[in-house]
Amino acid sequence: MNKHMTMEQHAFDLSRRRLLGAGVALSGLGLAACATGGAGSGPSIGRVVIVGGGFGGATAARYLKLWASNVDVTLVERNTSFVSCPISNLVLGGHKQMADITRGYDSLRKVGVKVMQGEVTAVDAAAKKVRLAGGGELAYDRLILSPGIDFMLDGTPGLAAALDSGRVLHSWKAGPQTVALRRQLEAMPDGGVFAMSIPKVPYRCPPGPYERACMVASYFKQHKPRAKVLVLDANPEIQSKKALFEKAFKDHYSGIIEYRSNNELKSVEGLTAKLEFDDVKADVLNVIPPQRAGDLARAAGLLNMNNRWAGVNWLTMESTAAPGVHVLGDATFSAPAMPKSGHMANQHAKVAAAAIIELLQGKPVSPTPVVMNTCYSFVTARDVVHVASVHQYDATDKTFKTVPGSGGVSAGANQIEGRYALSWADNIWADMLAG
Ligand SMILES: Cc1cc2nc3c(=O)[nH]c(=O)nc-3n(C[C@H](O)[C@H](O)[C@H](O)COP(=O)(O)OP(=O)(O)OC[C@H]3O[C@@H](n4cnc5c(N)ncnc54)[C@H](O)[C@@H]3O)c2cc1C
Repeated sequence: MNKHMTMEQHAFDLSRRRLLGAGVALSGLGLAACATGGAGSGPSIGRVVIVGGGFGGATAARYLKLWASNVDVTLVERNTSFVSCPISNLVLGGHKQMADITRGYDSLRKVGVKVMQGEVTAVDAAAKKVRLAGGGELAYDRLILSPGIDFMLDGTPGLAAALDSGRVLHSWKAGPQTVALRRQLEAMPDGGVFAMSIPKVPYRCPPGPYERACMVASYFKQHKPRAKVLVLDANPEIQSKKALFEKAFKDHYSGIIEYRSNNELKSVEGLTAKLEFDDVKADVLNVIPPQRAGDLARAAGLLNMNNRWAGVNWLTMESTAAPGVHVLGDATFSAPAMPKSGHMANQHAKVAAAAIIELLQGKPVSPTPVVMNTCYSFVTARDVVHVASVHQYDATDKTFKTVPGSGGVSAGANQIEGRYALSWADNIWADMLAG
């Protein structure tokens, strides 16, 4: 209470604040009513369990509660905090710290999501239950899996052992591997070679490896000017923003970055990458392995596309293999020209959240979803390029298709987009984690 207030004024002030609070909640419900056809407060309309608190899962949890506070939402995530892959290449370059890309789950708890730290080990889609590593079970009406990716190591002899040893890192899931790769780069002698192997598409974040090459090269340019970045790409050419990355390699990192196309990794021995025609001995070897949907999606029998990705109904994100189970993000079999990105996982989550609220009430889902993507890449510590696209559901082919004339790429790298990129990251983390 303000010391100049009377008791009556204090009581009035409190009730006014309560009313304002109710007003915010009501306008929130109004929004929910528009978006979802009337779900809101009142008795629970159903239980949704979400596995994976990354870009897809956390966004779904947040938006289910935002659009229908009367859905019970439980989010199970194995890690205690969220560590972002976007911006993690800047940590490798020494331009950001791990604290800059790490966020907690407390704000999600505050909006009513039950956040549990733990590992889901199995899905029983018939009984509508998931099993937890500790032995417990969670029952659901609708299940969302956004488990991200796991690696396919069998086709590359020596790779599993090299990764297990910790000498070779992937750093394609942000966290301890990001820290470890940065330490390897710091310990690498000036004049040493950092070799990075890129798998054939599809993989998580098509421009990510080329951004990584730039960030590592930016560090070398300043601190180890005789060191080299060797990019061993299994693909025939740069997979995203090609001309922009080629220009960055030439303008900023000539003599530091060497790019080699059609250089698929065949096997690994120590720190030697064995390719089809030659061997590359590196001082730091960073292998981004071929990828598939996360282990849990595989264990749940959802990988019905090339035995690698989960097929979904794009109107609801519901698995085409298991009713009642929705799959988001990188784990899905992508629609044409749809990238595996955090931004896209966030969009999948919103399609799923809106659809699940309708399905729980026995109502029809929106037949016309539209999603979009923007992916920024740092080519220096400040200069950034982007690629953007808009994808609209096509009822005839039952998939998302890019809207002709939408999106595109930057005309050139620039510092204004450097600021946009950092704002994009802050905004999407706030959007998914509720603060
Ligand atoms: C270096 C790099 C840079 C990138 N830059 C960008 C960028 O600039 N913009 C962009 O849009 N995207 C970017 N991406 C891609 C982006 O990180 C992914 O597309 C995004 O993380 C996919 O979201 P997701 O929800 O599918 O998976 P994730 O975000 O990986 O979330 C999966 C979560 O599930 C948890 N999990 C998995 N299995 C279980 C289980 N059984 N039990 C409990 N928890 C489980 C994991 O711990 C994880 O937290 C980048 C990726 C990399 C590697």
